[in-house]
Amino acid sequence: MKKLLIIFLIVFTACTKQEKVDLLVINANIYTVNDDFNKAEAFAVKDGKIIAVGNTENIQQKYATLKTVDAKGKTIVPGMIDAHCHFYGLGLAEQKVRLEGTKSYDEVLQRLVDFQKEKNLPFITGRGWDQNDWVKKKLPTKEKLDSTFPNTPVAIRRIDGHALLVNQAAIDMAGVTINTPFSGGDILKKDGKLTGVFIDNPMSLIGLKIPSPTLKEATQALKDAEKICFELGLTTVNDAGLDRSIIELIDSLQIIGELKLRVYAMVSASEENLDYYLNKGISKTDRLNVRSFKVYGDGALGSRGAAMRAPYDDKPGHFGALVNTIDFLQNTAKRIADSEFQMNTHAIGDSANHFILQTYKEVLKDKKDRRWKVEHAQILSLEDFKLFDNIIPSVQPTHATSDMYWAEDRVGAERIKGGYAYKDLLNKYGKVALGTDFPVEKVNPMLTFYAAVARKDLNDFPEGGFQIENALTREETLKGMTIWAAFSNFEEHEKGSIEVGKFADFIILDQNIMEIPLENIPKTKVTETFVNGEKVTKL
Ligand SMILES: [Zn+2]
Repeated sequence: MKKLLIIFLIVFTACTKQEKVDLLVINANIYTVNDDFNKAEAFAVKDGKIIAVGNTENIQQKYATLKTVDAKGKTIVPGMIDAHCHFYGLGLAEQKVRLEGTKSYDEVLQRLVDFQKEKNLPFITGRGWDQNDWVKKKLPTKEKLDSTFPNTPVAIRRIDGHALLVNQAAIDMAGVTINTPFSGGDILKKDGKLTGVFIDNPMSLIGLKIPSPTLKEATQALKDAEKICFELGLTTVNDAGLDRSIIELIDSLQIIGELKLRVYAMVSASEENLDYYLNKGISKTDRLNVRSFKVYGDGALGSRGAAMRAPYDDKPGHFGALVNTIDFLQNTAKRIADSEFQMNTHAIGDSANHFILQTYKEVLKDKKDRRWKVEHAQILSLEDFKLFDNIIPSVQPTHATSDMYWAEDRVGAERIKGGYAYKDLLNKYGKVALGTDFPVEKVNPMLTFYAAVARKDLNDFPEGGFQIENALTREETLKGMTIWAAFSNFEEHEKGSIEVGKFADFIILDQNIMEIPLENIPKTKVTETFVNGEKVTKL
């Protein structure tokens, strides 16, 4: 009996003793983004997951740890998810010299030299120079480029993408001479010599010679993009269109701990990728989820490539167009519907949206919980909103504030009413997944948050906000960037909120975005980002 009592006492005291965990977060203003949108002060993390959420006193009483983050009252929200972006594309853009805003040709050269010192690439590419910003507003010629880079090929595009300045090393590599024939565009010459400037079509003579990224460059691109994402508070990115080689590279880098960001990889719907992945089936690790295809419906509104049901208002007789055949889109939808994969289709114009929504309905019939998405869902006929009853709208609030200056010119006063209508879409489906489409837009999720709630640009324009009836509340916006985005990835049980059992992905903010004046939201900084309970930002 005495022995039993002793055992009982040992067990009892062990139970009241503090449980050891890896990390405690205390004294925080936490928006948990759980079902009731509750707030909390503290949580405990073990093995990368949240094991308790509560107030500081209780959490500190129950758990012992060597590592504590005292948030000192700062706001904490779940790690942000960008539901539509081009993560690898951002990284690739980082491997190119940015020449926007240069004030002279010499400044262009200086940026090239600085860039190459850091990157040491076999072929230097860049974009953004504009001779109209220079003191001498003349098109440049290649002499200075040749003397600075005698052996390394250089090809840099003008800001509009319609002119390319290259050096002799690039010209030699492309095998172009003064006698090379071309049609359309121009290869500029002076005194019987090439100046190094290629206009339009002939640019491809050089472009074809730019080597595709090596494994080392692709790896660097992913790492550079990850750093940017972490600093801005993203812990998961949905890459809208990746090939098998990059998906496999991401997986291998994550396995060895070289890449820590979580990636929802939408597979580019090429025949090759469709064949491979439909045969392989969906696959998932804690950091990589491959269970969807990205398909292109139409083009973009800015370049009048979006497919409209009636002609553009600012280009009579022009409808834009689908970028894939109807056959391909329907067959692809059928193939994907017969698998477990999700289909995510780019649709901007009202005609593309109508066709894609109809196609989804036809192939899905009464299949449950497939969570197929329309990416962008930008201009919709009013009668088509109802089709979003079981299709997820994946939208990018900064597109609204980037396009608002000219969108109505394109589609007119009537059709714009069904444009960028995020609240109407939310009301139909009950959720929206929010993203940016970076690097088309800026990466910063605070700009998405601001655009969604204020529907204004950073100069406080327009007064009252663009079609403000389609603004989202702050709560809806935060959900769209966390738990609803997670839901759109079939990941709502593992991320998107600060709740027991979920990954410890969270960010600390220097301001409370849920309460500060609207105009302060874009200036909000992420001070620390955590993935799996591990701090992934430097400072
Ligand atoms: Zn995109």
